[in-house]
Amino acid sequence: MELSFLGAAGTVTGSKYLISHQNHRFMLDCGLYQGIKNLRERNWKSLPVSPKDIKCLLLTHAHLDHSGYIPALVKHGFRGKIFCTHATKSLARVLLPDSGFLQEEDARYANKRHFSKHSPALPLYTEKEAWKALEYFEPVDFHDDVNFLPGFKAQFIPAGHILGASSISIDGPAGKMVFSGDLGRPNDLIMRAPEAISQADYLILESTYGDRLHESVDIPQLLADIVNSTAEQGGIVLIPAFAVGRAQALLHLIQELKNTDRIPDLPVYLNSPMAISATEIFCHYHHLHRLTPEQCHAIDQGTQYVRTVEESIDLNQRKFPSIIVSASGMASGGRVLHHLKALLSDHRNSVVFAGFQAPGTRGDSLVNGAQQIKIHGQYYPVRASIYQLDALSAHADYDEILSWLENFTAPPKHTFITHGEPLASDALRLCIKDRLNWSVSVPEYQDKVTFPM
Ligand SMILES: [Zn+2]
Repeated sequence: MELSFLGAAGTVTGSKYLISHQNHRFMLDCGLYQGIKNLRERNWKSLPVSPKDIKCLLLTHAHLDHSGYIPALVKHGFRGKIFCTHATKSLARVLLPDSGFLQEEDARYANKRHFSKHSPALPLYTEKEAWKALEYFEPVDFHDDVNFLPGFKAQFIPAGHILGASSISIDGPAGKMVFSGDLGRPNDLIMRAPEAISQADYLILESTYGDRLHESVDIPQLLADIVNSTAEQGGIVLIPAFAVGRAQALLHLIQELKNTDRIPDLPVYLNSPMAISATEIFCHYHHLHRLTPEQCHAIDQGTQYVRTVEESIDLNQRKFPSIIVSASGMASGGRVLHHLKALLSDHRNSVVFAGFQAPGTRGDSLVNGAQQIKIHGQYYPVRASIYQLDALSAHADYDEILSWLENFTAPPKHTFITHGEPLASDALRLCIKDRLNWSVSVPEYQDKVTFPM
C-alpha cells in the first residue's frame, strides 16, 4: 500500500492524500490551495493519476482547503462515491457552488481588466460543475462502518473544529491508519471536544498551530472591550469571519455579551449569504454542537441578515456604531473586501480577525501591521485598529494536540505531521519526539510512503 502527500504538506491548504493498493486508488480530502500565488498555481496542475482511476474519496470536513478541489476532480472524470458526514454534505452544498461562482466571477473580472496572463482567463470550475460534483456525495453517520473498497473499512469520528468535521480511521491491509483531519479544541465556544482515539498503526496529524499556544485570555472580555471602545468613538466593528464555524461562534458570543449588558445593544449584521446558510445548517444540526435551540434562536433574533448586493452596499453608507460580521475570514475574497475598502481608512473603526491567517492573505498582512492594503487593484491606507483574537481559533494548539495524542494507549508505528507551515510542523515534530518519544516525520509535497514501512 502506498500513501502520497499531494497537499497540506509544507503548508496549511490544499489537503489531498492519495492511497493506492494493488489496482485500487482512493483519496482522502481533496482541497483547494489558497494564499500565495505559487501555491494557488498548483490548483491548475493535474494529479499524478487520472481522476477516472480514483475509486472513491473520503472527506474529513467541508472547509474549502479540504473539499474545494472536488468539483475539478469530477470535471476531470472522477465518478466514485464521496463519503462524508451528513452535516459535511449540507455545508458542502453551500460552500462548493459558491466557490464555483466566485471562480467564474474572478475569471470574468480578470478578462474585463485584462490582468490574467491567460487569455481568456478560465474558472477552475463553474457553479454548475460544483452542483454536478455534489451528486456523488454519500453521507454517512459518525461511527458507522463504511466498507468503501474491498479490504478497506472507514469510520468517521467527531473532531470538533466545525460542524460535521471528522477524524477518519481506516482499517486496511497496512493496519489502522488514522487521519486527524482538522482538530478542534477541548473548550471551544460552540463545538464539542474532538473525540478520543486510542489506537493507530499510522497517524497523519495536522499542525496548524504546531508552534503556538492560544493565549489563555478572557475572549468575551476582549471582544467586549473592543466593541465598547469602538462604539464610544462612533466607529464600526468589522469582523472578517470564516463563514462556516467562527461566524456562528462570534454571533453567539455577541448575543451573550448583549444579554448580559456587557456591550450596548448595537445592530449586528451578518453580511455573507454563505454564513447565513451555514448558520441555518448549524442550528438544524443542534445535536452536534454545544448550543441549545434557544441559543440558536437568540442568534437568529439578534442578527440582521444581509442577503442582497443592494443591502450590502447600503450597509457601507451607514455611519452609526454597529457590528458587521462578513466573510471571508482571511479577507482573501467575498463581501468583507467592500467593507474593508469603506472602513479601513477611518481611525474610529476596528477590524477583528478571528482565527488563523494564512501567509500571503490580506488578513495576515493586516494583523502584521501593514500600513496599506491592496484590494481590487487599489491601495487603501490602514488607520482603523486591527485586532487578532487568535484564541477564538477552531484549531487545537500544540498543547491541546498533545493532550489528544495522550489518548493513544500505544504509540503509532509512525506519525506524519501535515497541514502546517514548515516551522509549525517541525515544532510539533520535535515536541512529539521529545515529550512522547514517538517515531515522527514531516513529509514534503509529493512524498510517497510504502506500507508496511
Ligand atoms: Zn478546517
